[in-house]
Amino acid sequence: MVDAVIVGAGHNGLVAAAYLARAGLDVEVVERREIVGGCCVTEELWPGVRASPGAYTLSLLRGRIIDELGLGRHGLDVRAHEPYLFAPQPDGRKVVTWSSRERTVSQLERDWSAADARGYAEWSQRWETAAARVQKIIGHQGAGSQDSAVDSGARVPGRSSVTRPAAAIGPSRVPPR
Ligand SMILES: Cc1cc2nc3c(=O)[nH]c(=O)nc-3n(C[C@H](O)[C@H](O)[C@H](O)COP(=O)(O)OP(=O)(O)OC[C@H]3O[C@@H](n4cnc5c(N)ncnc54)[C@H](O)[C@@H]3O)c2cc1C
Repeated sequence: MVDAVIVGAGHNGLVAAAYLARAGLDVEVVERREIVGGCCVTEELWPGVRASPGAYTLSLLRGRIIDELGLGRHGLDVRAHEPYLFAPQPDGRKVVTWSSRERTVSQLERDWSAADARGYAEWSQRWETAAARVQKIIGHQGAGSQDSAVDSGARVPGRSSVTRPAAAIGPSRVPPR
């Protein structure tokens, strides 16, 4: 008999399970697919081509979760991918964006027009302003920083296992801090 059952081993289910296990509960995660991670997985989509079929950019994972669950020790290695976006067009042209807005603006100016580059800069600034407001609401400050939204909870190590409804995929123990 377990204390909590999480249905779905996407990253939200796994994070919830890890925190519950850290608080000393016996947690079972059930996942219908062969692999865990939900939309955030790497799969061989075509022979020899491994990529994410869903999420491709880490944007909202709280730094506090990375720190508290020791995700770095478990292999999390976050890197900026450049260019950020490459969108080939049917007519042979392309849309390329970079992490740096200035670099993107120069690229759009070269590949499209000065007006398009200006339009992008204005659009991008609008989103940055909106994002800054939302960040205050959700308490997100980016990877590696601390936020106040999550109570660190008990430090008692718990037990967690990831199973499919029909068969166990494998147990995983969440280490104590
Ligand atoms: C195409 C696409 C691109 C995206 N790009 C990004 C991005 O770049 N950056 C970003 O931050 N976010 C992105 N997102 C959003 C992000 O993927 C989701 O917000 C995130 O995956 C939600 O996590 P989750 O754990 O709640 O659910 P999911 O990742 O959806 O995981 C749910 C899990 O539950 C399992 N499940 C469902 N029902 C059952 C059941 N009855 N029994 C057992 N298991 C069940 C599923 O198989 C799955 O593994 C993208 C989403 C999509 C679809």
